[in-house]
This record gives sequence, structure tokens and C-alpha cells, in this order.
Amino acid sequence: MTENVVLEEMIGELAIAERVKELGRIITADYAGKDLVTVSVLKGSVIFTADIVRNIDLPVEMAFMAVSSYGDATSSSGRINIRMDVDRPVAGRDVLIIEDIVDTGVTLSSLREYFLKEKGVRSFKICSLLDKPSRRIKNINPDYLGFSVEDHFVVGYGLDAGNKYRNLKNICKIVS
Ligand code: 5GP
Repeated sequence: MTENVVLEEMIGELAIAERVKELGRIITADYAGKDLVTVSVLKGSVIFTADIVRNIDLPVEMAFMAVSSYGDATSSSGRINIRMDVDRPVAGRDVLIIEDIVDTGVTLSSLREYFLKEKGVRSFKICSLLDKPSRRIKNINPDYLGFSVEDHFVVGYGLDAGNKYRNLKNICKIVS
């Protein structure tokens, strides 16, 4: 599906940069004096992570984890599997999950339960680049959101289709 696909821009590079700066300002204000650990969910959030952490003016610690999500198909896998656990201690700390997109909400509702019940974090919040609210089946929403999008399969700025397109500077939908 990654050969000869037609992409249409949904969100441009400048709009992303402006929104990321704004989110960084809000997060900086909200987390002043707290023990902030960002936990980025690989791989889709890496580009967003790199930009957002540089806009957080605090001594932030960065951690990473990997969970199962979409494969090469454009449909949800249903439930999550932790493939790489968070690589820093998080008990008693203020965890901010950095995610690329909230779709059904399965991934983040599972992560919320995992961090609150099994990891014993002090606080758990979500910063997501994108949100597709029309697809939600779980009661969870990002605390910090870049952009809300309609129900299209999107790529770019970290998001992939068949492991490609993550390096696009903008966010596009696949039109055919
Ligand atoms: P959820 O568990 O909320 O259904 O799915 C979250 C994960 O599905 C995201 O982290 C992302 O990896 C993947 N996903 C959902 N929608 C899209 C999309 O439009 N494009 C891409 N590339 N991944 C998506």
C-alpha cells in the first residue's frame, strides 16, 4: 500500500510548529515544580517528542516505551501488548505520555490503567499530536492536544503507513 499512494496535506509544517510551541508553553506552566517524566510511545511519537520537549522549559526527563498498535493494515488491532516497558523509574512521578494519535482510545486507556495501577505514578496525563474523536470506543481524551482530525488514515510527522512517511514534515491523509 505504500507504492504509488496519493497524499493530501491536512496540516502544514508551520501550523504544526506553532501548535507545538503553544503546547510547550502550557505544559511548562502546568508542570512547574513537578517531577515531569515524558513517556513517548514508539515509534509514531518520536518526531513530535523531539519538538515538544524542546519547547518545555523545565528539567524534563525523557522515557520511552513500545506497545503493539497498527501493523501494516489501516485497522485497529483491538488491544495492546507492551513490547518494551518504560525505560525509566516512574513510581511516584508525574508522567506525561507523548502519543502520535488517539483513535479508538484502546492504547491510552490500557496505558492509563497500567501506569496508575501497576506503576504507581503520582499523576498521569496525555499529550497527543492528533485526535480522531469520531472513532473513540474508550472513555479517554488527551489532556494536551495538537489537532483534532476527521476519520482519515493519516501519515507524516512521525506517523507511518507500512513504516514509511514518518519523515514527512507535514501531516497528510492517504487519498488513494
Ligand atoms: P488506538 O488504540 O487509540 O485505537 O490507536 C492508537 C494507535 O493507532 C496510534 O498510536 C497509532 O499508532 C495508530 N493509528 C491510529 N490512527 C492512525 C492513523 O490515522 N495513522 C497512523 N499512521 N496510525 C494510526
